[in-house]
Amino acid sequence: MRVLGIETSCDETAAAVVERRADGSGVILSNVVLSQLAEHAPFGGVVPEIAARAHVEALDSLIARALREPGIAAADLDGIAATAGPGLIGGLLVGLMTGKAIAAAAGKPFVAVNHLEAHALTARLSDGIGFPYLLLLVTGGHTQIVAVRGVGTYERWGTTVDDAVGEAFDKVAKMLGLGWPGGPEVERIAAGGDPQRFAFPRPMAGRPGCDFSFSGLKTAVRLEAQKLAPLSDGDVADLCASFQAAVTDSLADRTRSALERFVAGSGDAPTLVVAGGVAANAAVRGRLEGLAGHYGATLVAPPLRLCGDNAAMVAWAGCERLALGRSDTLDAPARARWPLDEMDAA
Ligand code: ATP
Ligand code: MG
Ligand code: FE
Repeated sequence: MRVLGIETSCDETAAAVVERRADGSGVILSNVVLSQLAEHAPFGGVVPEIAARAHVEALDSLIARALREPGIAAADLDGIAATAGPGLIGGLLVGLMTGKAIAAAAGKPFVAVNHLEAHALTARLSDGIGFPYLLLLVTGGHTQIVAVRGVGTYERWGTTVDDAVGEAFDKVAKMLGLGWPGGPEVERIAAGGDPQRFAFPRPMAGRPGCDFSFSGLKTAVRLEAQKLAPLSDGDVADLCASFQAAVTDSLADRTRSALERFVAGSGDAPTLVVAGGVAANAAVRGRLEGLAGHYGATLVAPPLRLCGDNAAMVAWAGCERLALGRSDTLDAPARARWPLDEMDAA
């Protein structure tokens, strides 16, 4: 089965073709991503109207490339999948309408994909893992721990009570005068800093449950930066390193709490999956690897190009749903808000 995926929920315009083999494994035939970084960088964040217009300009040619590279015509596809939410409504409409139009013109089934489900199922495309698994979803807009039981069956065990972790990276980068998006910049600068110079709080550490909080940590960094101003390069590096250490500790503590619960309920060889843009962070990955090992679990972290927003994950989510006989009608709406635990089980 071959599915065209379209992703336009935020500031990446992306198209991809993924094949799902009879044995359930997936192969990426093409995966084209165009980041709008340059358009938004002057504003230090994503400007919704600019994003929607940029998607309109880029999407047609990206889809043409995604089909041309593997030499596939729309007629050869078994379905078209487009992100329908959650995300910025203008961008979502661009991708959704384009996907529906191609599906209608080619007479193919259409799948309205939940972007978080696409992040959540990526590890099945990259590593072929089975259900169930425990998912730590760490993106620019979400920070969640989810027990993934099957396609469409997600139990959300924890979420952030304020900022998402990627958002905290982005805001800290901004207050320290670093580039945007902040995550990769903070990680790069942190490599030359002292993670122990500042004893920042480890939010929620030791509390029962699996919820997260990053707003207080962000404020602690801001106060320290104000106290030290003007900042030397060494100060910035130490602030980044100490912030990243606190984030890593906090994520590890919350994940430990979830793993204990998950392992107790699942018996043999549990799998921990980390997904979303922040999963690109080597300190976070390294810590989770150690944690998983401690509980006899295996950590699965998709390759970097599948961690950030891309359309291969959207095409794959489409494959997973189509394989279970699920598709959507052409009046499926764009949804700015669409929590994972409000999905229909497939
Ligand atoms: P959502 O999926 O919730 O709609 P999003 O699509 O914007 O949000 P992603 O594309 O999954 O999120 O991830 C982007 C986020 O990941 C940004 O906040 C970015 O700063 C962060 N990020 C990317 N690379 C790194 C890194 N190396 N270290 C830390 N954070 C990172
Ligand atoms: Mg992005
Ligand atoms: Fe995302």
